[in-house]
Amino acid sequence: MKTRWVGVDFDGTLATWNCPWPENWRATGKPISRMVKRVKRWIAEGKDVRIFTARMDGYHPKDGPIPIHMVRESIEDWCLKYLGVILPVTNRKDYWCEAIYDDRAIQVERDTGRLIGEVDTTNTRHRRGIFAEEADK
Ligand SMILES: [Mg+2]
Repeated sequence: MKTRWVGVDFDGTLATWNCPWPENWRATGKPISRMVKRVKRWIAEGKDVRIFTARMDGYHPKDGPIPIHMVRESIEDWCLKYLGVILPVTNRKDYWCEAIYDDRAIQVERDTGRLIGEVDTTNTRHRRGIFAEEADK
């Protein structure tokens, strides 16, 4: 039976962004403690956690395109070293994807287009306007 999985971005989310990747496609950042702890907890809880990274496009400004199996290996090595297990590595989400954790993502509320965590100033002004009019009555 298929189960839900959680995607975790690599660069800037699980591993620090600042690494010499532009010069060396194998380069990987240092583990980001808070995220690594979270992922380890999910693994311990039996969650299906997958690395969700654009690295799997094989793009590299100097040496690309890089064969995907080689990119995967470099991420797997990092996983084994810092997570103690090898996680699946992908750049695709599907129906079973429950959530994506990504330093570039901006969450949009389902079916409304509203941004989660953003104060809707237009609406606030609008409401204030209504309240002001009501107060004037
Ligand atoms: Mg990132």
